[in-house]
Amino acid sequence: MTHQTSRRNFVKTSGKAGLAIGLAASLPAVLRASGMAANEFQQQALPYTYNALEPSIDALTMEIHYSKHAAAYAKSLGEACAAEGVNTGSKTLESVLRNISKYSPKMRNNAGGHFNHEMFWQTMKPGGSATPSGQLASSIIQSFGSFDAFKTQFSDAAKARFGSGWAWLIINSDNALAIVSSPNQDNPLMDVSETWGTPLLGLDVWEHAYYLKYQNRRPDYINSWWNVVNWDVVAARMNK
Ligand code: MN
Repeated sequence: MTHQTSRRNFVKTSGKAGLAIGLAASLPAVLRASGMAANEFQQQALPYTYNALEPSIDALTMEIHYSKHAAAYAKSLGEACAAEGVNTGSKTLESVLRNISKYSPKMRNNAGGHFNHEMFWQTMKPGGSATPSGQLASSIIQSFGSFDAFKTQFSDAAKARFGSGWAWLIINSDNALAIVSSPNQDNPLMDVSETWGTPLLGLDVWEHAYYLKYQNRRPDYINSWWNVVNWDVVAARMNK
């Protein structure tokens, strides 16, 4: 990358902060511009190739989902942050979600959309991982009776979500696990959510997530998705 290109990217990336270029640029902005790191308000690299989750999720669906839908949420989130004075160098995405009622519908849709998709990519893995063990397994059994009962209840929540939305496994402030679903790009971190909790696992049931391969057969998509869940990441989120 030439110096000139780097500088142009810097101005584009840092937006308003570009006014103070060279003087008071924040470290995150510098890191973003340099490509050394990206902050959590930006789309991260997909941790596998588009075809890596086949046959559960086909390559074309993954490509369009990541590079068009999710990319658009990240881009619009950036616009909303700039318009509504959210300093992405100092605020966390989670703090925005927890106070989402104070922001615009555009912020709600895109902060949710961005967070939900970034988490979705991380909680999937080519070939999946071994079923939960340790603390996660015992918490699931304690909360839902058995791992199979948990899967059934989660799948039912995903099937029953009318229109577009997500199904979630959450951990609440009492450290109890629960299954919920949310409409659109809402999630259980939002102060507008019916049920609050920290999401450990989320399933996207928007038609854009499955229609090319499964058309109207959402239950088939859900059944196949279990094969690519990355339980190691789910367990790490619970232990955090
Ligand atoms: Mn999606």
